[in-house]
Amino acid sequence: MLHIGCHLSCSQGYLAMGRQALSIGADTFQFFTRNPRGGSVKPFDEADACALVAFMQEHDFAPILAHAPYTLNACAADESIRAFAERTMREDLERLAYLPGAMLNFHPGSHVKQGPETGIRLIAGLIDTVYTPDVRTPLLLETMAGKGSEVGRSFEEIRAIMEASAQGERLGVCLDTCHVFDGGYDLVNHLDDVLEAFDKVVGLSRLRAIHINDSKNPLGSHKDRHEKIGEGQIGLDAFVRIINHPQLRHLPFFLETPNEIDGYRREIALLRGLYREG
Ligand code: FE
Ligand code: FE
Ligand code: ZN
Repeated sequence: MLHIGCHLSCSQGYLAMGRQALSIGADTFQFFTRNPRGGSVKPFDEADACALVAFMQEHDFAPILAHAPYTLNACAADESIRAFAERTMREDLERLAYLPGAMLNFHPGSHVKQGPETGIRLIAGLIDTVYTPDVRTPLLLETMAGKGSEVGRSFEEIRAIMEASAQGERLGVCLDTCHVFDGGYDLVNHLDDVLEAFDKVVGLSRLRAIHINDSKNPLGSHKDRHEKIGEGQIGLDAFVRIINHPQLRHLPFFLETPNEIDGYRREIALLRGLYREG
């Protein structure tokens, strides 16, 4: 069975997100841990979190994905921004301890003129500070499009973060199809080669989730503009190969396409219809 969901609004609460996911044919979903462009967060509702956990068990949900806010920049030049990143990730991990079916995904960061080496060192430092061995939530680095000074624009940069961190062995990866395509990896014509490169550099065993997005822009554009499935430069045929690929088909897929809830419902039905069972 294809494990698929989409990004849902966290303002409705945990259980409501689970119910909404189920109502659109999803068996997982993604949500922001807090306001994505600010960082403010609602008081934690433990009963609501427990209700979601029970709901997900009852309905055989795949692991869900919590997404850190965009304002979390572990390698900012400004120390106060790095302090915000540390506090935010620590608090988010504390909350996610109540959601055993959840993983936390974050954008590694933007080095803003400090250079990727400094960026990688700062990101690894933040991970080592907050991702202590007692934390059980899987922590995932997202592959980035390479817009501006984003770190994580290549598989090598993802590996470098893992190697620089004392917790590197525990880190996973969320591969965003729009981002890697924009980053220059040809998922359309050379999917096997891209996965082989990922395996050699990072290791396919580290891959825990896929952000399934089409791209408005061509291969290597470093733009990061998501498009609806089949309406962008990646195209539906490539997504059929991606969801059915023997090395990817078991993973949870998360849509972050420009859609309202009905559009997500249609994309989930479309992709379920194109998944080959067995
Ligand atoms: Fe993301
Ligand atoms: Fe993404
Ligand atoms: Zn993106």
